[in-house]
Order: sequence, then structure tokens, then C-alpha cells
Amino acid sequence: MDKININNLKIFAHHGVLAEEKRNGQYFFVSATLFVDTYKAGINDDLALTVNYDEVSHLINNIMTNNTYDLIETAANVIAASILKAYELVNEVLITIKKPSAPIALDFEDVSVCVHKKYHTAYVALGSNLGDSKKYLDNAVLVIKDNEFIRKVCVSSYIKTAPYGYTDQPDFLNACMVFETIYTPLELLDFLQSLENAANRVRHIHWGPRTLDLDILFYDDIAMYTERLKIPHPEIQKRDFVLKPLMELNPYFIHPVLGKSINTLLEELK
Ligand code: ATP
Ligand code: MG
Ligand code: MG
Repeated sequence: MDKININNLKIFAHHGVLAEEKRNGQYFFVSATLFVDTYKAGINDDLALTVNYDEVSHLINNIMTNNTYDLIETAANVIAASILKAYELVNEVLITIKKPSAPIALDFEDVSVCVHKKYHTAYVALGSNLGDSKKYLDNAVLVIKDNEFIRKVCVSSYIKTAPYGYTDQPDFLNACMVFETIYTPLELLDFLQSLENAANRVRHIHWGPRTLDLDILFYDDIAMYTERLKIPHPEIQKRDFVLKPLMELNPYFIHPVLGKSINTLLEELK
């Protein structure tokens, strides 16, 4: 990726934990590195095909001056998320905020925070077998598409499947989706669980009937195995109702732990 750098934008603002920092203000120096593909802009010599650094500088200035945060960590996170949201061409950002007048009673040049945010690719499985299942899935898709930390959403077709595990329950409607997100895996789980809760999901029986189930299948090529979150989802290779919709989205995606493509996993399951 090419980079566009904005270095040490000098901004007078009112961030800090101490009351006098909020009252009196001080100078901050903000630097941004935007990872952008400049190829098209370069061959066409066209500003519309790249990111306008003047606009980005003003966006940073507005966030710094229109808000009062205790922490420069917060300011850096807000700036990073705002740039990633505003510019489709930007996949990744580094934001550094220096605070040369931080309240430290020692001789120093500055203190600074550097925040690194980028879009990650997540695959999510959707399922429902209670109430108006199509409506539950449609609504989840709409809310996910509308989320400001998510972009480039692709949804498979919905397939009807017989229940798995606990079989004495209605048929399921299943689908998968893939999107880019700046959420961390746990933030994404929190968001998806808030959608399950909003659909009045109640957990009675393990693998029992539900209005809405949203499971994270993959997140880039990470492997994590904690009580709250396991990625890749441990059951993918056993479930044709997951592998079939995944085939529509990306048959050549390689399962990062099993080292096999979706295509191969579905063949092996058959
Ligand atoms: P399964 O995960 O086998 O499909 P389920 O979807 O019915 O079962 P839930 O009741 O939706 O299970 O979730 C139980 C717990 O699983 C959640 O509270 C969550 O913390 C945890 N969990 C672990 N890994 C994941 C994941 N990859 N995606 C979603 N939830 C997960
Ligand atoms: Mg599930
Ligand atoms: Mg689940």
C-alpha cells in the first residue's frame, strides 16, 4: 500500500484529565498516515481518485477542536475511525497525537499516543427458526449494512435446513455474510449479540430454537480460542448449512487452522 502522510498538524485544543487543561487548552501535534492505493490517481493525475489531504487535515482539526476528551487515546481513536469511515480508498490509518505541554513536572520533549486501525474481513453465519425467520435475517442484514464501522457487505442467498444437534424443532433459515470492519473480534461479537438480544433471543436449550443466531466464522486469518469467543468457529467443517452459503461468497477461502478451502471442506463433508 502507498501512504499519504500528514505530519505534526499543530492544533490548539482542550483535551486532558485535569480541569485546567480543559479550561486553558494547549497545543497538540497530530500526524496521520493513510494507507491508500494511489495507482489510479497517479496514472490519471486526478485529485478525485485519491484522498484530499487538505480535507483530511480539516476533518482532524474539527474533531480536535469541537470536542473535549480526557484522553488523547480517545481523540486518536475517533480520528482514526472517522477517516476510515469517510474515505473508501483508505484501508488503514496510523494516528499519532503528541502533547508537548502534558502536565509532567520533569523535562521532556512530548508524550504521544499512536493508534493503528484498519479494516478486517469478517465472515458471519446467520440463522433463525422461530417466528418470521426471513424477517429476522433481513433485519439483521439491514442493521449490519447500516453500521458505521462496517462496509462492503456481501450476503449469500438464504437456505432452508433441517435442525442440527437438537432436532426436535422447526427448520432453519441459514445464510452467511462477509464484510469489512474496524471492530476488533470482541467488539464485533458484542455488536452481533446486541442484534440477537434485540430480536428477543432467549437461550433455553443448547442448539435449541432461536429467532436469530449470529456467529463469527472467520476474522482475517486469526485463530483465537477463549471461553467467550472462538475463531474460526469450531463447527464450520461439520455444517453444510454454513459451508454452502460460504461457497457462494468465497469457495477458495482457506480455513486458517485446517489449511483447506471451503470447497474442499464441503466435498469432505459430503
Ligand atoms: P454454536 O456456536 O455451536 O452455533 P449457538 O450459536 O447456538 O451454538 P449461542 O447460544 O449463540 O450458541 O452462543 C453461545 C456462546 O458462544 C456465546 O455467548 C458466545 O460468547 C460464544 N461464542 C464462542 N465463539 C463464538 C463465535 N465464533 N461466534 C459467536 N459466538 C461465539
Ligand atoms: Mg450458532
Ligand atoms: Mg451463536
